[in-house]
Amino acid sequence: MVFDGKSSAAQLLQALEKESLRLREEYGRVPCLSVLLVGEDYGSTRYVASCEKNAQRAGLDCRVIRMPEQSSEDEVVEAIRVLNDDASVDGILVQMPLPKHIRQERIVQTIAPEKDVDGVTDVNVSQLWKQKRNDYSRFCVPCTPRSVMRILQESGIELDGMNVVVLGRSNIVGMPVSKLLLNENATVTVCHSHTKDLAAIAREADVLVAAIGKAKFVGPDMVKQGAVVVDVGINTDPVTGKMCGDADTEAIADRCRLITPVPGGVGQLTICMLMENTTDCFKRLHHG
Ligand code: NDP
Repeated sequence: MVFDGKSSAAQLLQALEKESLRLREEYGRVPCLSVLLVGEDYGSTRYVASCEKNAQRAGLDCRVIRMPEQSSEDEVVEAIRVLNDDASVDGILVQMPLPKHIRQERIVQTIAPEKDVDGVTDVNVSQLWKQKRNDYSRFCVPCTPRSVMRILQESGIELDGMNVVVLGRSNIVGMPVSKLLLNENATVTVCHSHTKDLAAIAREADVLVAAIGKAKFVGPDMVKQGAVVVDVGINTDPVTGKMCGDADTEAIADRCRLITPVPGGVGQLTICMLMENTTDCFKRLHHG
């Protein structure tokens, strides 16, 4: 079974649009996401355009602030402070990567935690590591890990006691996904570039989450019959030049109970989670 991210995203956006209309009736405005884009990185420009499109579908207000590549770190910090203080802005996303002369750490920590829609500030990262069960109502969990969890939940995948292997341990995907899975009582093994005999470990997985950034890395030798494979990777296929995931989908599809396609799987829902997180920020700002 191949997860249908397009239809799932359409349903999520429809539900969010309904909610936006309700919030406008109750509070006089819809949730507002502000995206800060510094420079003209091709991938970032495309992603921000997609944010605008999806925000519109979700009935959200989306304001993109474009700053030139040569903006100073202080100018970017100041722009974020203005957004922090703007009561009509609920969520702030600073698009990464930033130009090399700007320190990402300083920028990230400038975002007001209550408007941090991608859960990147230290305050929100520590909340994630402290919480023992997945409660998305108190702070924003990073969008991609939340998308992975949403896909598993929507697909009815039981996690309690299951053997889950996560390939990758980055702070934006592998580690937060692992924590969210642990909170669902899965037994989680995290693999990385030093892992010995990774294929043998992966083959034990009931659920395999691939987030390493290597085109078609996960082949039939790494997948148990009947496993669920969640492919987070976004890569370029060296042969076709097209977008592909970390899994060799064609080669493993017949072994999988469920597989998420690239494109059209995790990435499709990640952007919906950004809209959901913005709506959640709006509600927390109004209800406390
Ligand atoms: P990083 O490069 O930050 O992390 C990659 C991880 O994979 C590291 O932990 C690294 O190990 C591990 N790794 C790399 N090579 C191997 C290998 N040969 N064997 C085992 N482990 C390996 O990547 P990200 O986490 O940022 O992203 C991962 C993928 O997910 C990328 O393709 C990215 O484009 C995609 N992505 C998709 C998103 C979406 O919404 N769909 C959002 C964010 C990312 P070590 O720690 O030892 O170096």
